[in-house]
Amino acid sequence: MSGASESFRSSDDDQVLPFQLDALGVRGRLVRLGPSLDAVIERHGYPLAVARPLAEAMVLCAALATSLKYDGIFTLQISGDGPVRLLVTDLTTDGALRGYAQFDSWKLAVALGSGNGEAPERYVPRLFGRGRLAFTVDQGQHTQRYQGVVPLEGATLADCAHTYFRQSEQLPTGIKIAAERFVDGDAVHWRAAALMVQQMPEFDAGRLSVDHEQREDDWRKAVILMASATEAEMLSPDLAGLTLLHRLFHAERPRLFARRAFAARCRCSRERIDRVLRSIRREELDDLRDKSGRVAVKCEFCSTEYAYDDRDLDRIYASAA
Ligand SMILES: [Zn+2]
Repeated sequence: MSGASESFRSSDDDQVLPFQLDALGVRGRLVRLGPSLDAVIERHGYPLAVARPLAEAMVLCAALATSLKYDGIFTLQISGDGPVRLLVTDLTTDGALRGYAQFDSWKLAVALGSGNGEAPERYVPRLFGRGRLAFTVDQGQHTQRYQGVVPLEGATLADCAHTYFRQSEQLPTGIKIAAERFVDGDAVHWRAAALMVQQMPEFDAGRLSVDHEQREDDWRKAVILMASATEAEMLSPDLAGLTLLHRLFHAERPRLFARRAFAARCRCSRERIDRVLRSIRREELDDLRDKSGRVAVKCEFCSTEYAYDDRDLDRIYASAA
């Protein structure tokens, strides 16, 4: 275990720990993010009130994505008419996590008033306004894209996720999310955690003989145990994930599955931008030219800029013909 100050990090960071409570017919996961959040938030220099919703959205994305069987990209997108117009985060099956936000600094300052610049506790209505929450699973060309969209209803991101679970006829699901900024001298570290439980289909749980009432009771018990985790426990770098799960669920003998790791990694590349440009009429690119006449395209996720002069564009459009 690491000691005091390097220790805004833990060996569980940027990982998901899946588990199952066989006695209750419930599966779950604990996700903790650390360095991957810092990479995304620092790169963009987001203000506090934007960084926190982004950190929570990224950990929610990781919790939901790892509870699905898919091979491709899981995307969570929140859009609204408030100061934060758009928040996008996605996770690939091989663990590449990224995210970005678009916001209006002026509207944000007005919404936050004379506070300390932090997102208020129940920030969703104030920061996002009226909007929607969408989840997309993209498994590549020639496959059907799955999309779930619900209105942004709730005071917290976890509330909004619960609205989604209810409205989209998912299995009963409970989730708790926490995010916090730790200041260490000049350095700032973000941490976020999500704890999720989900009722298993009777057949999968091997509980066809368990009656409905008992199943309901077992489900309620799992939610209560999950909810008993404090935010401090969820975020503490000094409390191992396994210890936390044991603390919460020891009487139910949690069965653990292999962890999976994430890392902040963008999927953008020059080839990909080439493809996007090729899909646009060349004349339309003129609006995008900078002072030196080059067409500059910036990746919103990682801020990498891809510049194209006329010779580059000749090459791209020649290969399109
Ligand atoms: Zn990028």
